[in-house]
Amino acid sequence: MSFLDLANITKTFGPTTAVEHIDLSIKQGEFLTLLGPSGCGKTTVLRMIAGFETPTMGTITLDGEDITHRQASKRPMGMIFQSYALFPHLTASQNIAFGMQIKKLPGTRIRQRCAELLELVGLGEVGSRYPHQLSGGQQQRIAIARALAVEPKVLLLDEPLSALDAIVRVSLRNEIRRIQQQLMMTAIYVTHDQEEALAISDRIAIMTKGRIEQIDQPEQIYNHPQSIFTATFVGTSNQFDGMVASAAQGRCKVGDYDIFTPPLTHLNNGAPVLIMVRPEEVSLLAATSEEAAHSKGDTKDNRIMGSIKLRTFLGPFTRFHVHSNEHTTLIADIPNYLAKRFTVGQSVLLSFAPDACQVFASDRRTVPS
Ligand code: ATP
Repeated sequence: MSFLDLANITKTFGPTTAVEHIDLSIKQGEFLTLLGPSGCGKTTVLRMIAGFETPTMGTITLDGEDITHRQASKRPMGMIFQSYALFPHLTASQNIAFGMQIKKLPGTRIRQRCAELLELVGLGEVGSRYPHQLSGGQQQRIAIARALAVEPKVLLLDEPLSALDAIVRVSLRNEIRRIQQQLMMTAIYVTHDQEEALAISDRIAIMTKGRIEQIDQPEQIYNHPQSIFTATFVGTSNQFDGMVASAAQGRCKVGDYDIFTPPLTHLNNGAPVLIMVRPEEVSLLAATSEEAAHSKGDTKDNRIMGSIKLRTFLGPFTRFHVHSNEHTTLIADIPNYLAKRFTVGQSVLLSFAPDACQVFASDRRTVPS
């Protein structure tokens, strides 16, 4: 059963269409992220849900009630912004209390709830401090507590971590997820950071040019993208332009060599395709090693010859840029304990399984740059 529904929502600003024919159903307690490049309409969707913008067309329903034209102040939503937006002349506790005072809750209840919320966001000690006496991460925690104080039915978060440094960003995103799960709160989160979206969400809606391209669980978005846009926007991919040689067998022609893929039931022989392979699916074999010579004719894995041009240590793994004999550069992410065997200039075999290939019907004009 959906809790919040957007039906056929369009929003135009003069000649600009910011959001076009969007349908979105969010379950109670779900954490949904709107992910997409700058200008794709994420914030506009969030602002329409909050009531700061009115849709040009379409309906927004919350818990069965049409709220499309309801004032923002009358919607049971809490909003959190990138800029924290705390009142500078109020202490942390007074910031949290603000919404409850407007609602005229009794003083004892407000004090009790402030203390609870400070504990919930892990800042029991800082209630009497002013915003300028808090770090960015602490200010955002207070902003979260303030948004939760009025017991919203939906929490809306617009790039809440963008202003924070990398370490605080990761710890606070985990905190946001913990709090959301603890309170079983429905949350809609806007970001253009794919890693953040993958880490925090129950489902992700991938947006481009005012439309939703795909809505799915993070694993599905990453492992089974439905379009070239999703596949290239989320994660890194090796890309090959080719042509289907045998759809039934799962074989494509790329330059002079064949790439084996899963059977391509949705494509015809001769169709132009874009084949994508994640770097972590590619393994390296020393081209001269017995292992490579032996395994070459032994498996159905794809094999491409090349030489290592660049080796980059990225912490958990090492990334190799390999120039293939077909004059393309491929990326392989190799666990560090295996990466030790390979050096720049070395001839190697790149190997990847047919199942690692995502194959999309290709019109070169649709491939994002
Ligand atoms: P970003 O990640 O950069 O914040 P976004 O995906 O959130 O981008 P929006 O802010 O929703 O995108 O903007 C979508 C489109 O609508 C953009 O072309 C933007 O310029 C336009 N737009 C948004 N708000 C207005 C406005 N008030 N007046 C005119 N155009 C607007």
